[in-house]
Amino acid sequence: MSEEILVTIAGAGVVGCATAYELSKVINGNIVIVERNNSVKGENQSSRNSGVIHAGIFYPRDFGPLKSSLCVKGNSLLYEFCEKNNVPYKKCGKLVVATSPMEEEYLEDVLRIAKENGVEGISTLDRNQINKIEPNINAVSAIHAPSSGIVESTGLVEALYNRAEENGAIFITSNELTDINPCAREGFNIGIRSVNGNEQFKTKIFINSAGLYSDEIAKKINPELNYIMDPVKGESAKFSSLRRKNIRLSGMSIYPVPFGYLPDGERLNVPFKQFLELFKQHKVTKSVGVHISPTFDSDSIFTVGPAYSIPESRQDYKPSRKESYYLDKVLQFLPGLKQEDISLHQVGIRAKLKDRYDYVIERDESFSGCINLVGIDSPGLTSSLAIAKYVRKMVLEILQ
Ligand SMILES: Cc1cc2nc3c(=O)[nH]c(=O)nc-3n(C[C@H](O)[C@H](O)[C@H](O)COP(=O)(O)OP(=O)(O)OC[C@H]3O[C@@H](n4cnc5c(N)ncnc54)[C@H](O)[C@@H]3O)c2cc1C
Repeated sequence: MSEEILVTIAGAGVVGCATAYELSKVINGNIVIVERNNSVKGENQSSRNSGVIHAGIFYPRDFGPLKSSLCVKGNSLLYEFCEKNNVPYKKCGKLVVATSPMEEEYLEDVLRIAKENGVEGISTLDRNQINKIEPNINAVSAIHAPSSGIVESTGLVEALYNRAEENGAIFITSNELTDINPCAREGFNIGIRSVNGNEQFKTKIFINSAGLYSDEIAKKINPELNYIMDPVKGESAKFSSLRRKNIRLSGMSIYPVPFGYLPDGERLNVPFKQFLELFKQHKVTKSVGVHISPTFDSDSIFTVGPAYSIPESRQDYKPSRKESYYLDKVLQFLPGLKQEDISLHQVGIRAKLKDRYDYVIERDESFSGCINLVGIDSPGLTSSLAIAKYVRKMVLEILQ
């Protein structure tokens, strides 16, 4: 490649593809996406996830403006995109359930966050109302979020890739970005490696959307940056409600209240105020626990997960939890499930940043033609199109 490229994006996961798609609507050609996998199917986080379209009720503004706002914006953009581009989705709604008075403290916080984030259609349900919709769910109260749903995540990545390519964006797969060095005046020299050898080219703007490796790429340009990836393994299982005649589920996602989780993935059962103090000190993470989501396989097959643990490496995709783990977690709100109904499904690794709750989407202070997207963990799938619009604005500012 001898000519100078206007925008280069590292990583063709859902965020890189959405960004390429948004930019390709306003920049004629001259956008290159470098992806080390041999196809664009979102093989990393973007296919190994729960596929839930989040409503935006779990991400508090007080811990960062990006997740809280981009999830809500991304939710409606995603439905619009899926509808126009024939990407499979179901707007099935979500129930967040509390099974004890202590869990109700956490549920109150979910309601507060939903209100602050402007999530529409939220309602609270008591035990009777829950039982009318979900007779097999055991809960004292719940929040219903009708704008939550599920999306076929690989279908989403492929559709974004196809639309971007139609608009002239060039995807270079089976190529790893190995070097990136700022040029003397502006722009960056990029080195890529494939089985055919090494190549170099120059780019004016560089967007780092490399998921789990985005911290390493950011430091290649600016070693002073202190992003530290703290990857979290998230495993899931599946169960078929057909196997158990006494279990009937309406087809919504069912979530326990988000709780504090210790580094080994175990839930911290303490009152909400105590959790909040520990969370502020980054001693625990806050996460949605093992939940049930519908699938596209059939109306009776559900996923159960994720089960969290610390991965041995960023490629550690081997399952470390047994079926009994999922059963133990789900029985709290879905009594009646049996271990033989559960089979292991998939393993993903979240690009979580150490001691940081919110996404990082910012221009490098020293090399302002570089936009870093770091720590785009859950709900990054939901937020992807809103993140892309946010990045598009930054790119247009650089080009002014
Ligand atoms: C278990 C789990 C469950 C989740 N559930 C949900 C959910 O239900 N809803 C939701 O909204 N979000 C969910 N998420 C989060 C969501 O999947 C991610 O936020 C999103 O997929 C991030 O996309 P990405 O494009 O930033 O990263 P990725 O999909 O990881 O893509 C990064 C890409 O960069 C490429 N790359 C890296 N380094 C290089 C290099 N040097 N050269 C070239 N290419 C490179 C990789 O090959 C990869 O394709 C979940 C995540 C996990 C792990």
